[in-house]
Amino acid sequence: MEKLVSLAKRRGFVFQSSEIYGGLGSVWDYGPLGVELKKNIKERWWRSMVHEREDIEGLDAAILMHPKVWEASGHVAGFTDPLVDCKHCKNRFRADDPRIKGTPGQPDGQCPACGTKGTLTAPRQFNLMFKTFMGPVEEQAAVIYMRPETAQGIYVNYLNVLQSSRQKVPFGIAQIGKAFRNEITPGNFIFRTREFEQMEMQFFVKPGSENDWFERWRTERMKWVEGLGVRPEKLRWHQHGKDELAHYAADAYDIQYEFPFGWQEFEGIHNRTDFDLKNHQQHSGKKLDYLDAATNERFIPYVVETSAGADRTTLVVLCDAYREEAVKGEDGADKEEQRVVLKLKPSLAPLKAAVFPLVNKDGMPEVARRIYDDLRRRLNVFFDDGGSIGRRYRRQDEAGTPFGITIDGQTSQDQTVTVRDRDTLKQVRVANGQLVEYLKEKLAT
Ligand code: ATP
Repeated sequence: MEKLVSLAKRRGFVFQSSEIYGGLGSVWDYGPLGVELKKNIKERWWRSMVHEREDIEGLDAAILMHPKVWEASGHVAGFTDPLVDCKHCKNRFRADDPRIKGTPGQPDGQCPACGTKGTLTAPRQFNLMFKTFMGPVEEQAAVIYMRPETAQGIYVNYLNVLQSSRQKVPFGIAQIGKAFRNEITPGNFIFRTREFEQMEMQFFVKPGSENDWFERWRTERMKWVEGLGVRPEKLRWHQHGKDELAHYAADAYDIQYEFPFGWQEFEGIHNRTDFDLKNHQQHSGKKLDYLDAATNERFIPYVVETSAGADRTTLVVLCDAYREEAVKGEDGADKEEQRVVLKLKPSLAPLKAAVFPLVNKDGMPEVARRIYDDLRRRLNVFFDDGGSIGRRYRRQDEAGTPFGITIDGQTSQDQTVTVRDRDTLKQVRVANGQLVEYLKEKLAT
């Protein structure tokens, strides 16, 4: 994992937030390559959810919401973890932290940080929502929350979307947006952070049909995840046991990935029943039931939710793509050398190709620039004329760039360039005029 974190920094995928001030705990910034990779993943999700389906609409709801939303959703009362504090060193731990010896709140309870006995408080519920104040006065009445999930923005807009889009149940609403949780044990790079992005879709169905839709969405979501190019043997389902189910869920499956730190969830499919809409109807006083025109029945729809983290999915893609390999030297030398390569699916790769003049003379840089300028208008490409060709390939391998285009001595004679494939290292000559077509075809998947 450290290797991936260091590559992510070196190549501009992910930086620690506010690094020059020592960093902010478990908050991360996406650099030039990271923002492209995450955007490609989000766009792929949006395309498959919203554009390719006629029964799902998009939404972009605000992060700040009426505080009553979080009472109705159960987050004010229930979105908590039991925690213990050490009165001596002021550290805070999850009550189930395996490093705690003895019983918190009792004389034998021992702090895992400072080692003092008897200073741990009994477990108390700690709410994971970030609080802030709206308006000029910092008083209880002005408290609002940073949303801990995007789903509620969908529920409170369910009627607006239904009426304006003229959809009929069953239909869905999809949203990508930031969420915030004051996690107590964050960590593992961008796996669990305090500010993150979710890609959530809530599918509203007639009561009685939720199990069928639940299975359909499980199939759909696994297909989508496999379409990211992730190795199938690194993926598995995990069904929530009774003690794991969230307060709103009747059934839940996670899609897990085998990260370097073990199998962990990065997406959940949940049967949320009519819990959310029923509670919003009750708390807001606004009728949220649906009239089925065909049967004249009125009901509150059930919800099947697919909830993925954009950052965790990005981490899955990065972990899965990371390889260390021995390759034959590409500087003309025959000796083997180690390379680090991100075998990203070409359509997800931040940079699609890099353009290299073989040497900085004989007109090669000028031709390379012309090719680069032409490609740049259609694809995200990179120009690099610094260092030996082997070193330039290595840098692009680490960035996950699928193609390297080299302008060499032959280019001025027959208007062809070499295109090197990141994974096979094979080089083919392609006519300049055919370059765009050639790349587009390879990048289509
Ligand atoms: P976990 O138990 O791992 O914290 P969760 O079960 O609370 O996750 P959900 O509430 O189901 O997660 O959220 C759905 C998705 O949102 C998760 O699968 C994950 O991809 C993402 N997510 C949730 N919390 C975080 C976080 N703190 N950092 C990054 N992504 C998160």
